[in-house]
Amino acid sequence: ELPWIDGDFYNLHSTLPLEDRKVQMQVRDFMHQEVAPIINDYWRKDEFPKELIPKLAELDICGLTYQGYGCPGKSFLLEGFVAMEMAKTDTSISTFFGVQSGLCMGSIYLLGSEEQKEYWLPKLQKFEKIGAFGLTEPKVGSAVAGGLTTTVKKEGDSWILNGQKKWIGNATFSDIVIIYARDLDDGHVKGFIVETDTPGFKAEKIKDKMALRVVQNATITMENCKVPDSAKLEKANSFKDLAAVLRMTRASVAWQAVGCARGAYEYAVQYTHDRKQFGKSISSFQLIQDHLVTMLSNLTAMQNMCYRLSKMQDNGELKDEHASLAKVFCTLRTRDIVSTAREVMGGNGILLEYNVARFVADAEAIYSYEGTKEINSLIVGRAITGKSAFI
Ligand code: FAD
Repeated sequence: ELPWIDGDFYNLHSTLPLEDRKVQMQVRDFMHQEVAPIINDYWRKDEFPKELIPKLAELDICGLTYQGYGCPGKSFLLEGFVAMEMAKTDTSISTFFGVQSGLCMGSIYLLGSEEQKEYWLPKLQKFEKIGAFGLTEPKVGSAVAGGLTTTVKKEGDSWILNGQKKWIGNATFSDIVIIYARDLDDGHVKGFIVETDTPGFKAEKIKDKMALRVVQNATITMENCKVPDSAKLEKANSFKDLAAVLRMTRASVAWQAVGCARGAYEYAVQYTHDRKQFGKSISSFQLIQDHLVTMLSNLTAMQNMCYRLSKMQDNGELKDEHASLAKVFCTLRTRDIVSTAREVMGGNGILLEYNVARFVADAEAIYSYEGTKEINSLIVGRAITGKSAFI
């Protein structure tokens, strides 16, 4: 008999309208047909498969929830399913997509002027332009709220940027990077759409990452990078403004964690069915079944949490702490699930060709990016107690 592999045990997909379900299936087919066969090779080579970008564009899912500017205007629930569906096959591809569609386009959609939205969003939506998001610095990660050292100064009709950014996904080949910098005049964080061919702008690839190897991260150096006033994001005038972008993208990362966990779980179920020891399929052993049940329990809890999170987002009820709680819980549980999936696969669990090893590595990166467990916990802790415990 065949195993029940599907990690959507409570049929959450059935809550999607039929037309959205079709979108989910198109993404699944794309990931199975185009990504799965090549991804381990790219992971090993530490390269991004740029040939996938036009095919990804054809799916018309970029900027999925935004209204207007060539964007589909769909629900956050569908966006969550899309993030999950991508990460289920590969978390790097879903991260590339999340940077383009969420962090970069989201900064412009939520904080840009009408002209900036009209100019950039349709091009980014179609992947005619590739975007990145530059907030973290070599010496400032968790403490970005008060501690950015990248500076900006207004000079006539221009702004002059100086400083360094680290970990910036897609930035080795992106056309623009959204750079957040501290204004030397008023001390506030401001955002800028910086074109990567601006004189004084340099992006260098971060080599030898042991997670999300397909995502191309860069260290960016800006030396007297001069951008016009029209490049300043109109509504990005303090760190609080930027928090609206992170709230939205952290909800997507929670869904990505569901995908990463679900991908590993589904590979593991199939493996335990196929693998025989002591003359029997290992899936018939009680201790293996207990592992599968523990994984599925956590996965089901994560999915239902994310489902409610997206519903709150669709109703305009989402607060920072809601997104942070899901980000913490889902990325933490994902670490457990991928490592148990590895465990039930024995030695083969550490081989790239069996896929789960890639999920184990990639889970470490999503656990740390978009706010570590500690930082997101502190956001939730502040909501529970009314006391900020960041410092
Ligand atoms: P640190 O801030 O140095 O933290 C180290 C440890 O100290 C962590 O465990 C942290 O939780 C803990 N800690 C810090 N402060 C406190 C505190 N107050 N209380 C308790 N514990 C604390 N950034 C971008 O801007 N753009 C990107 O595209 C991007 N992509 C990324 C992709 C990858 C693969 C990775 C790994 C990172 C990416 N980042 C990106 C950066 C990411 O957001 C940071 O790595 C993250 O915010 C943590 O910062 P840090 O690595 O400097 O760790």
